[in-house]
Amino acid sequence: MALNVIMLGAPGAGKGTQAESFARAHGLPKISTGDILREGIKNELPLALVAKQKMDRGELADDATIVGIVRERLKNSDTKAGFVLDGFPRTVVQGQALDQLMVERGSDPLVIVDIVVPKAELVRRLSTRRICSGCGANADPLDTAATNCTVCGGVLVHRSDDNDRIVLERLRVYHESTKPVVDYYRDRPTFRTVNGAQAPDLVTAEIEATIMDATRAGLGLPLSAQR
Ligand code: AMP
Repeated sequence: MALNVIMLGAPGAGKGTQAESFARAHGLPKISTGDILREGIKNELPLALVAKQKMDRGELADDATIVGIVRERLKNSDTKAGFVLDGFPRTVVQGQALDQLMVERGSDPLVIVDIVVPKAELVRRLSTRRICSGCGANADPLDTAATNCTVCGGVLVHRSDDNDRIVLERLRVYHESTKPVVDYYRDRPTFRTVNGAQAPDLVTAEIEATIMDATRAGLGLPLSAQR
């Protein structure tokens, strides 16, 4: 059975880190639309450069652009055994497009994990976090003295969309556009919530157990029966 996982959660909830760790543990690709866009910007791809203007304002990129990116990425044969989506879908339109893609693939049902963290904690995390300018990995938030990435040695920088005003805008956009995505999935038998306000290792363990539970319990209905 393919493990098709969606990690949901507000900016700063730890989706990226947790998606990375679950994907690595299961030999699956982690597909982050934010990473794909940042890579595209680095390579000066026209669609990504258009999206950059919205990213820098904390707004969402166009649904059509993002769905196109995911559609192309899921064609890659490394997604056969499954995938972990990070940062997608962010709107109900994107969720509907993904359902359509899954029907086209004839794939196993999606397991949806929503990582929940209180807003005050999200603001604190986002205002202090740094990423690697080389590979995009998140820096260890506890190691504030570090200047270089532990993965590739690249210089650690604040993300251009992580300043206070933009952080609040991204959280507002999340509540406006992405909370309905949680509601879109909430009634599915493979939807789970996880407490993201614990130590990262505990979040990882809870996610592992909950995804296995959702999968093993065979709660997933055939795709045709999903809403
Ligand atoms: P992230 O790294 O996931 O926080 O994404 C950074 C920025 O990229 C977001 O604030 C959006 O501007 C854009 N972005 C990433 N994924 C999506 C998506 N699924 N839909 C729309 N915009 C996105």
